[in-house]
Amino acid sequence: MITSTNFCKVQKLDDDLYVITQAALVHFYLILGQKKAILIDAGYGFEDIRPIIRSITSLPVMLVLTHGDPDHSYGSEYFGDVWLYQPDYGQIMGFDTKHERQFIAEMGVNFLKENKPEAIEHFDSKAFAERSLLRTLTPHFVKDGELFDLGGKTLEVIFTPGHSYGHIMLLDREKKRLFSGDMICDYVIIYFFESDRNAPFSMALDSWKKIKRLENDIKDIYSAHGQLPITMNYVDAYIECFSGEFQQNYLKDKPFDRGPLGRGYQHIYKTVNIQYSDKRLEEFLGHKVERIDL
Ligand SMILES: [Zn+2]
Repeated sequence: MITSTNFCKVQKLDDDLYVITQAALVHFYLILGQKKAILIDAGYGFEDIRPIIRSITSLPVMLVLTHGDPDHSYGSEYFGDVWLYQPDYGQIMGFDTKHERQFIAEMGVNFLKENKPEAIEHFDSKAFAERSLLRTLTPHFVKDGELFDLGGKTLEVIFTPGHSYGHIMLLDREKKRLFSGDMICDYVIIYFFESDRNAPFSMALDSWKKIKRLENDIKDIYSAHGQLPITMNYVDAYIECFSGEFQQNYLKDKPFDRGPLGRGYQHIYKTVNIQYSDKRLEEFLGHKVERIDL
């Protein structure tokens, strides 16, 4: 088994479960059945990850995306067929521009500079920025509750809009594992892109409540960023936060500036960490927000 490449680290978590962590930032998961394997998300696409997968299994691999952000979807160029919830195909295409790709290519270069300077010559950031997913992807649209039968193992699609309009999670009820993408994580969830890229907070809250109702079938939560696995306590914290705590305390939130990505405020409560815009907040509260700190 390949355990590391220029950009990735690979860990075996169980006989049927592997995690690939790319650029020390995003996790994607390989789940093995008897007849098929599923790859949940595909990373930035800085390098071809198929050799890693081939070093683990010879089963046919189906790529399912939790959502369309570049850190999950650019890597799908190596797979062609991709399964996802419909609105996030739009998300993928929205990010499929030279401008966005240049921004991500720079992140790749910076990662190598800091972690593996000897590999910089092997990463053609210019060619990376020129590529496009438009002509390489064949999308297949999944439905809420759809089951993927891998042979002796079933994964269920759970539609959980919030961080994006078409965000999904995947549930392995038998092993009580939830693959939660960017909607439940020990990491900041970005929420400042307003209505075209992120769904309203009220939809996110409904998604967390939906996961709470599945509590008896979930023990370990494997997210796309930060610590893994995490627990249902994270879901409880999101629900508490958006059921009143956020509404009461948002005026204490500190501003942040992520340069070309955007500006907004950061809300931290227990394990919840959210960066959001005031437009997003005003939509949730139903009234205008006045601040005096800036
Ligand atoms: Zn992400």
